[in-house]
Amino acid sequence: MTTAEPHTTTTAEDMVAVCRGLAAAGLSPGSSGNVSVRIPGGFLTTPTGRPLGTLAAADLSVLDRDGRHRAGPPPTKEVPLHLRLYALNRATQAVVHLHSPYAVAAACLEPDDPSSALPPYTPYAVMRLGPAVPLLPYARPGSEHLAALADRLPPGTRACLLANHGSLTRAGSLDTAAQAAVELEESARLHLLLAPRAGVRPLTAEQCAELR
Ligand code: ZN
Repeated sequence: MTTAEPHTTTTAEDMVAVCRGLAAAGLSPGSSGNVSVRIPGGFLTTPTGRPLGTLAAADLSVLDRDGRHRAGPPPTKEVPLHLRLYALNRATQAVVHLHSPYAVAAACLEPDDPSSALPPYTPYAVMRLGPAVPLLPYARPGSEHLAALADRLPPGTRACLLANHGSLTRAGSLDTAAQAAVELEESARLHLLLAPRAGVRPLTAEQCAELR
């Protein structure tokens, strides 16, 4: 990776530390989950196919501001989704996407409230996540379709669930986006503890067929 710039190097180290923290907390099973941060001239992202807990600064992918891969290993396949969030909200400095277990479970439930997958159970959740956590419909991971669904998020959305897939948070700093992802997982856990129910929505046969 050609990142001699001190600021970029610091960001890479910060990003590795955040990724390791998320992995250590059990929020990125296997090699799932991806993280990106805005840097001068572009973005740093986690690479594709690597567990978040094993990354070093040199393992991060460098993209230019148009999202083209410039250095490091191939980036996460969710680059289009990350780029969409940066484009939708200029204040966004970091994006975290996880397959954390409780968020995935909550993302398989039909919400009672069409505007939010998770009720505002606690003040802390509302402070971290905002008043609503929208549920985006299912689309194949890594697809342009999934990225385009982000256009449906109300302006200012900080956290959402991706149906049958996982969680997504964005913020003005990497730490804040990661903390929101942790809070989202806790809110999803609370939701499942408080509201066990039938009506779980598996993937449809057509959605499974598309993946084969
Ligand atoms: Zn994913």
